[in-house]
Amino acid sequence: MVQANLHQLLKVSKQLREDVVRSLASAGSGHLGASLGLADIFTVLYWQVLHHRPLQPGWSERDRLILSIGHAAPVLYAALANSGYFPREELLTLRKLGSRLQGHPGRDHGLPGLELSAGSLGQGLSVAVGLALAAKIDRAPWRVFSIHGDGELQEGSIWEAAMSAAHHKLNNLIALVDRNDCQIDGRTSEVMGLEPLRAKWESFGWRVLECDGNDIAQLVETFEVAEHGDVKPTVIIARTLMGYGVKSIQDDYRWHGKAPSPTEAEKFLDELHAHYLSLQNGTVQE
Ligand SMILES: [Mg+2]
Repeated sequence: MVQANLHQLLKVSKQLREDVVRSLASAGSGHLGASLGLADIFTVLYWQVLHHRPLQPGWSERDRLILSIGHAAPVLYAALANSGYFPREELLTLRKLGSRLQGHPGRDHGLPGLELSAGSLGQGLSVAVGLALAAKIDRAPWRVFSIHGDGELQEGSIWEAAMSAAHHKLNNLIALVDRNDCQIDGRTSEVMGLEPLRAKWESFGWRVLECDGNDIAQLVETFEVAEHGDVKPTVIIARTLMGYGVKSIQDDYRWHGKAPSPTEAEKFLDELHAHYLSLQNGTVQE
């Protein structure tokens, strides 16, 4: 991909991560791990892939983004604010009484750009299937993207929805699995193993793509493939690290649902800065 574009997307993903850390520190609670791990994916979606109009959030032909893991709301809010749906300052109202930015997204709070009230795991794929089917029936051009945790795939309802998507040949549906091998209680492989994950999706009738979900260039290429040509629904298994970008908490499931203290937030922002410097210099250390 063009270097200038990559540079710009890296800048955005850094901004999203910084906003996530600041908003969680301000809230004093919330889910840091997945929000940081998903920042590159949200960058590529909102700045490269989605057809959307931040100043016209109800545009009928917009692509629909379903965040099935509602607890990763902070990164969705950061992406919406930085895209222009609402002022960035509002990110600091996260989880405050009366805020439009609740700990789990709620459409009845009036935040523009939200497609789904979410939090109860395993439900988003069914909603995405319903939307994609509606678009097919209406012969509408918009697509549906849904984001899932790997721990979330332990929910049976995911596989009912997966079966249904293939049956209806929903090639306008692209699901993404945040494959970090972490969930609230530990390693996903120890709590309830998912492998062979690729074969599971394939056996349910899906096209499967895999990539490094913390590599922006790979994500751009993978979404380009996903957007074009197949009769099947597509799932992207994106390998990520929980907490990516903040080295001291990376790949540590204990940060699934924890917020940094003000002192920790300062340290994490420094670590983010160092991470992006090393990315720029091509010397990133995982
Ligand atoms: Mg996970």
